[in-house]
Amino acid sequence: MIDLHCHTDCSDGSDAPVDVVRLATELGLEALAITDHDTLDGYDMARKQSDLAGCSLICGVELSTHSSRCSRSVHLLAYFFREPGSEFRSWLQELREGRCERNILLQQRLQSLGMEISWSELEAISGKQLGRPHFARLMVKKGYAASLQDAFDRYLAEGRPAYVERNEPALEEAVERVAAAGGIATLAHPARITRDPHTLRSLVADLIPYGLNAIECFHPEHSAEDTNHWLAIASELDLAVTGGSDYHGSYKPDIRLGTGRSGTLHVPSSLFLELKRRFAETVVNA
Ligand code: AMP
Ligand code: FE
Ligand code: FE
Ligand code: ZN
Repeated sequence: MIDLHCHTDCSDGSDAPVDVVRLATELGLEALAITDHDTLDGYDMARKQSDLAGCSLICGVELSTHSSRCSRSVHLLAYFFREPGSEFRSWLQELREGRCERNILLQQRLQSLGMEISWSELEAISGKQLGRPHFARLMVKKGYAASLQDAFDRYLAEGRPAYVERNEPALEEAVERVAAAGGIATLAHPARITRDPHTLRSLVADLIPYGLNAIECFHPEHSAEDTNHWLAIASELDLAVTGGSDYHGSYKPDIRLGTGRSGTLHVPSSLFLELKRRFAETVVNA
């Protein structure tokens, strides 16, 4: 079993990178990709770990992008068997700066909605990168929301009163940048984009010329039927298949590393072998 999608406290997960890798080795995962939002810091920290107990650690990142075909943000995963160079890393830095600007506006928005949310409180609650889940946790702590999900549903989710748009790259540009940096570009959790396989098929097909390589078919938010639809689309378009739990630790407490929600996820190791086979020329440390 493998897990190609997880978050550490370098973005909006609760666990330190070393603890996520330790958990992966305890579970006997054969490969783990750390895919924090907009940063490679978690991977950079975890790779220094000496005992990976046979678990291949993969450098990854998750990017939020905008697409004219979808009102919601579209997430793209990137995997690097050979680490990306300085150009890609400085682009990630730019994305993080856009996130900081959004956070300032978001804090002001919450204040204007009557919530006393201060910077010192936010800094105390967040890990190394402040994101909406940290705002949500503070809102729960201060009694403004009943749960993390309630904070999103009533305030923070797209279309809700405290939603502040971030300067996100276009989906096509993000795919191109990943490809230019030698990465494997994967469309993350497509069920969040649309459950209509025909719409998804054309969105995916149009991304192939930009360098899209794969679809995340296995994800806790996918029903068995969704997974089968996306597997069929990947096969038809000759794209690789990826999958992972989207583990966020205590920020998504019902999701387990490796096995997802209630142990229902199983991402076969054969997918990792297939990624290595297809993208062999970029494999260095896997
Ligand atoms: P940010 O990147 O700071 O905008 O935060 C996005 C993160 O918030 C996502 O990666 C999820 O972890 C979480 N998130 C986004 N939308 C929702 C939602 N509707 N319900 C629960 N969590 C969400
Ligand atoms: Fe997240
Ligand atoms: Fe995502
Ligand atoms: Zn994720």
